[in-house]
Amino acid sequence: MNPSMNGRGEAASGRPQASPRMERDHAGRKPRIVILGAGCSGISTAVRLQKRLHLSEADVTLVNKHDYHYFNTQLHRTAAGAIRPEQTRVRVTDLLLEAKVHFCKGEVRAIKPRERKVVLDHGVLSYDYLVVGLGGEPETSGIPGMEEFALTIRSLNSVRMIRQHVEYMLAKSKREPQRASYLTFAVCSADATGVDFAEELADQLPQLCRRYDVEPSLTRIIHFDVVSSLQEAGQQGKPQAQADKSGVFHYKGIEFRQGTAVRACTPEGLVLADGERLDAGTVIWNGGVKGSLLLAAAGLDTIQGRVRVDAQLRSPQHPEIWVVGENAVLPGVQNPVARSTAELALLQGKHAADVLLAKLRGRKEPVWAYKASMLDSPGNAAARLSGARGLRQAAFKAAANLRGMLRIGGLGLVWRKAIFRRD
Ligand SMILES: Cc1cc2nc3c(=O)[nH]c(=O)nc-3n(C[C@H](O)[C@H](O)[C@H](O)COP(=O)(O)OP(=O)(O)OC[C@H]3O[C@@H](n4cnc5c(N)ncnc54)[C@H](O)[C@@H]3O)c2cc1C
Repeated sequence: MNPSMNGRGEAASGRPQASPRMERDHAGRKPRIVILGAGCSGISTAVRLQKRLHLSEADVTLVNKHDYHYFNTQLHRTAAGAIRPEQTRVRVTDLLLEAKVHFCKGEVRAIKPRERKVVLDHGVLSYDYLVVGLGGEPETSGIPGMEEFALTIRSLNSVRMIRQHVEYMLAKSKREPQRASYLTFAVCSADATGVDFAEELADQLPQLCRRYDVEPSLTRIIHFDVVSSLQEAGQQGKPQAQADKSGVFHYKGIEFRQGTAVRACTPEGLVLADGERLDAGTVIWNGGVKGSLLLAAAGLDTIQGRVRVDAQLRSPQHPEIWVVGENAVLPGVQNPVARSTAELALLQGKHAADVLLAKLRGRKEPVWAYKASMLDSPGNAAARLSGARGLRQAAFKAAANLRGMLRIGGLGLVWRKAIFRRD
């Protein structure tokens, strides 16, 4: 058991070594660092600390509700069945050395900054320093029925459900051929993930139709650009320009609808602002992300669920808490709901680790600085662009995925997951 859990203050392994610069409490106990979330930002903090931190400097515990890290950027492919879920994830313990970072599988239920404790589903963890990288939650903007009846591309479990649901609909259509809605797939999206998914589904459907003896021409994929719905709900957004003009949607037989707000989702499908009712057996909602509800519940000042952090990525209210990834509003960023990218989250995680290291060693703490590169927003779906630009965008996305894997697991991970696609 990790010292953070048992409170004995003993090192996980190795004898504590004296260091004049090392921060210790009056009992000589090593500082306890707890990282919440093994997504892009959290795993990046853990991996960086593992590389740079000496065993004697701190006890580090990483908490995550699953025992794996998954590649968000690949989820749309898993949802459409292009790759298996196992190919999209890697065991957290395959990325960590237990002697340096203890992994604790558990769900965070509450953060208590005053007591410096984190409540998990199976216990309580104490910390001296906390890094919160819990990612966001799907934002349905209060559209009635969306939470209950739509599926989201959010986690490995959520995309498994999409995959199963699509196949179930195909099977059901054979039992009730008169109901065209079983073969209608509505994708409501405010960013590139929905575009990517619609395109991927269009690629996979012919094969699935063959498997279920369904006539492919009876299937319909309709992509709704839901930015107008979000604007009505007071959320910001940018229309997915040119998606319909690219020719790629047209070529793949995907219908594109823009400018009509979605009013509600029902068990039968969608209700649109112009009164139209679209019967669809499958509704996918990908209308943005809100910050983790745990941060506001912890009493931290939040803007739409996110915390505006300082140049060291800490909460100004609680300088012992770092907030990274999707839950952080970075210094100088005006739009609090601006979407994070995987690369940004990875770099923030690394930066939090570097600040922690400097703090523990009594050195000057680095200041967050970020220079965007062309690989940093590879979420712009290739589907929106045709010809050479589309190919270039797809290449950027593939390169960014590889770079992300390299950052957290080195060449070994690239080899296993990207080249050999091992489970
Ligand atoms: C479907 C999808 C596609 C995307 N595509 C792209 C793309 O193509 N390019 C790009 O740059 N960015 C993309 N992004 C954005 C990018 O993945 C995120 O910005 C980035 O992952 C944010 O990192 P994070 O660490 O904040 O959260 P995440 O990476 O989401 O990690 C959060 C972690 O916390 C865990 N967790 C959550 N709640 C709890 C809890 N209560 N207890 C314990 N553990 C918990 C989760 O299981 C997860 O492991 C995509 C995101 C999604 C969802």
